[in-house]
Amino acid sequence: MKGCISVVNSGSSSIKFSLFGNVEKEALSLIFGGQVEGIGVAPRFKARNDQGDILEEKAWVHGPDVNHESLMGYIIGWIRENRQRLGLELKGVGHRVVHGGDAYSCPVRVDDTVLRTLEKFIPLAPLHQPHNLGPIRSVMKLGADIPQVVCFDTAFHRTNPPLAQLFALPRQLMDEGIRRYGFHGLSYEYISRRLQVLDPVTATGRVVVAHLGSGASMCALLNGQSIASTMGFSAMDGLPMGTRPGNLDPGVVLYLMQEKGMALDDLVDLFYKHSGLLGVSGISNDMRVLQESDDPHAEEAIGVFVYRIQRELGSLAAVLGSLDALVFTAGVGENSPAIRARVCEGAQWLGLRLNPEANARGQLKISTPDSRVSIWVIPTDEELMIATHTRDILLGARNR
Ligand code: AMP
Repeated sequence: MKGCISVVNSGSSSIKFSLFGNVEKEALSLIFGGQVEGIGVAPRFKARNDQGDILEEKAWVHGPDVNHESLMGYIIGWIRENRQRLGLELKGVGHRVVHGGDAYSCPVRVDDTVLRTLEKFIPLAPLHQPHNLGPIRSVMKLGADIPQVVCFDTAFHRTNPPLAQLFALPRQLMDEGIRRYGFHGLSYEYISRRLQVLDPVTATGRVVVAHLGSGASMCALLNGQSIASTMGFSAMDGLPMGTRPGNLDPGVVLYLMQEKGMALDDLVDLFYKHSGLLGVSGISNDMRVLQESDDPHAEEAIGVFVYRIQRELGSLAAVLGSLDALVFTAGVGENSPAIRARVCEGAQWLGLRLNPEANARGQLKISTPDSRVSIWVIPTDEELMIATHTRDILLGARNR
C-alpha cells in the first residue's frame, strides 16, 4: 500500500487540512485538501482534489456540540474514508504550530514531553496556540498510534542573531521569554528552498522576502537563513495587515487604557479584528475590495500598506548590508501587480528595476535584465513544507 502524509493547520475560526502522496519520492504531491471555515459562527466544510474540483461540501448550524473538537473529528473521519478509498496508508500527520518558543529550532515528533512544553507557550500566543494543539489531541484520541510532527512558525527565525531578538526592556523580562521570535517561518523556509532551486547564486546572497497576505511580514535572508524579520513577540508587529495594525507605539496602548478606559478584551478585539486595512479604510480587510473602491480611505489604507513595506525594506536591506533580491509571496504578493509596482517604484534607490510587462503577467522573475537587484514572484506553500518536514522526520531519507 502506498503511503501518504496528512497536514493540519488549525486556527481560531478555521481548520485547514490536506493529504500528500508520493512520500517515497523526493517531491510530494497533493492528493486533496480542504477546510472548515466559520467555526463559532456557521461552520462550512469544503474539500477539493488536486485539480481544484469540489469533492464535498457540508454546513452545520452553530451550537454547543459543533466546536473545534467535533469538527476535527469529522475531518479525521473524512480523510480516513477518502484515503482508504484511494488505497493509501497514512504514515503520519504534520501540524502547523505557531509558537515553538526558544525550545525548538526545527520540527519535532510529538510525544507527551513535547506537548507539555508547547502548552507552556500558550501565554505567548493565547489566541492561536490552543487551537494548534487541540487537533494533536484529537488525532491521539481518534487516530490510535499515528505518529505526529509539529512544525513551528517561529523555528526558521531561531538563526536571528541575539541583538535582532532583543527588546530594549529590563533583562529579566527577556529571560522570561519576552523577545522577538518572528513568524511565517514555514513560508520563508519554503521560499528559501525554492530560491535555491530557481537561482542558487542569488539564494546564497542577501534577499528580502515579502509575505503579503491577510497576515503580512517581511524577512531578511542571508545565505538562505533568516537574520531578521518584521514580526516580533507576536504576529502583530511589523507591517499593517488585514485587521492588525503592525508596528505600534506602546504609548498608544497606554493612552487607550488610561484615557479611554479600554480593557484587555477591548484591546484584543481592536488589534486583532478592527485595525490594519479594515481599520484605516473602514471598508474591508480584503485588498481586492480596496483596489476596486474609489473611496479615498481605501486608497489611504493601500498607501499606508505600501509605505510601511518600503520602510521595512530599507530597514532589512540595512541589516543585510545590501540587497541582491526581493521576493513577493502570499495572497497580495503573488496576485497584485499594482501593489508590487508601487513597492518597487519607491525602492528604486536600492537598485530595483521592475519589468512592467513581466510584472503584469505575474512571471517568476519580474525585474529588468539590467536591474542590480532581481525581483521575483514565488508562490508559497506552507502545507507542502509541513508535509515535507513530517515525511523527512518520520520516514527519513533512507527509509522512503
Ligand atoms: P492570504 O492570507 O495569503 O490568503 O492572502 C489573502 C489576501 O490576498 C487578501 O487580502 C486578498 O484580498 C489578497 N488577494 C488575493 N488575490 C488578490 C488579487 N488578485 N489582487 C489583490 N489582492 C489579492
